[in-house]
Amino acid sequence: MNKGKKLYEGKAKIIYQTNDKGLVIQHFKDDATAFNALKKANIEGKGVLNNRISEYLLNTLAQCGIETHLVKRLNMREQLIKQVEIIPVEFVIRNIATGSLTKRLGISEGTVLNKPLLEYYLKNDELDDPLISKEHIYSFEWANEQEIQAIDKMSLRINDILQGVFRGVGIKLIDFKLEYGRTWNKDKEVNEIILADEISPDTCRLWDIKTDKKLDKDRFRKDLGNLIEAYQDVARRLGIMPEEMNISEVNFGKTASIKFKKK
Ligand code: UDP
Repeated sequence: MNKGKKLYEGKAKIIYQTNDKGLVIQHFKDDATAFNALKKANIEGKGVLNNRISEYLLNTLAQCGIETHLVKRLNMREQLIKQVEIIPVEFVIRNIATGSLTKRLGISEGTVLNKPLLEYYLKNDELDDPLISKEHIYSFEWANEQEIQAIDKMSLRINDILQGVFRGVGIKLIDFKLEYGRTWNKDKEVNEIILADEISPDTCRLWDIKTDKKLDKDRFRKDLGNLIEAYQDVARRLGIMPEEMNISEVNFGKTASIKFKKK
């Protein structure tokens, strides 16, 4: 597997070509951004932790029958993934009200929602990722009704599975963001929708069940500090990082060889 030229660089990840048609490499950077990149920082070790946590969560989902883009993790910062045509919508699933939902609609922080709330945001930095409705998605042909039906169903199933995974390790899944892509299924000869991007403390809100301590990117957004310690705590609780290991002991260079637990 040869790493080819850079195809795309986003805020937290880079995509590289490979010599294998249909497969690309997803590289996790240490860059953290918030408020549409108005706030930026480089947090050593974040990419390594997100790579590992996302690998674990996507593999868990795959075991439950969710089709994902992940082929395998290659090293500390990189994953081999299926190349997809990303649907230009961020799919947000909420269980408890916080963040933009409370600000936009005046819902009290921490309100437990009757049932998971699905929201759609257009992926467009220049417009600040505006909230959109399904009708906008259909009108402008960002995706069709059949695709959105399939995505809604998958998102709710993913929410059920992830809520269970996190509850089992003492964490509440407050809300999270998913991205999906289209890929050609050779066997079935149809375009199909699969889960893409990442699922990590960068894209989820995770609160400790007992104390409501934030174990996610809100530590950066709200200047709460100790972001890496919180992400490490998530990795440890999921059983993918040895108890005794501290991220400060890890060499993050290209040759780094942190031994994560095989699950
Ligand atoms: N989210 C994300 N990327 C985005 C916007 C949101 O991963 O560009 C995630 C965020 O981490 C949270 C959920 O989606 O878990 C809902 O975010 P919200 O709309 O409350 O955004 P806020 O403006 O408060 O970050």
